Amino acid sequence: MNKAFCREPDAQSPRCPGCGADGSPVGPETVAGHVAAGAAEQLGEPAYCCLTESCSVAYFDLFERSIPLAEAHGFFWPKDPAGPLCACHGLTCDDIDADVAEGQPRRVRAVVERAGASDAECSHRAADGRSCLPRVQREYMRRHRG
Ligand SMILES: [Zn+2]
Repeated sequence: MNKAFCREPDAQSPRCPGCGADGSPVGPETVAGHVAAGAAEQLGEPAYCCLTESCSVAYFDLFERSIPLAEAHGFFWPKDPAGPLCACHGLTCDDIDADVAEGQPRRVRAVVERAGASDAECSHRAADGRSCLPRVQREYMRRHRG
């Protein structure tokens, strides 16, 4: 059975009011950690994070209320293409490119090792409240394939 075909297209799939992309669910402490004091209360729960590069929405909720990027902070890649992929360890796309060029994921591997030891910190600092590892590994694979 392929579960993908069982999914209702519009059910329980909140879209960003700015760009229409799927949101990434975030906890209230993640929102509070990336917006000005009190701003998090503008949103209901659950709240979602928009990770579309060009979209000016940072967080939104099921009622299409949103907090713009201009009122949020700590958003890194991909909203800030020059910013670090991994906020905790400062790994950037340039670092990944350097690893790809050398043919050895030296920098990526170092972050993977450190992030594995301090996952709580990673998920606390990232704007989407997730560990940076899947993002770092996905981006490495994407660039590695060219
Ligand atoms: Zn968006």
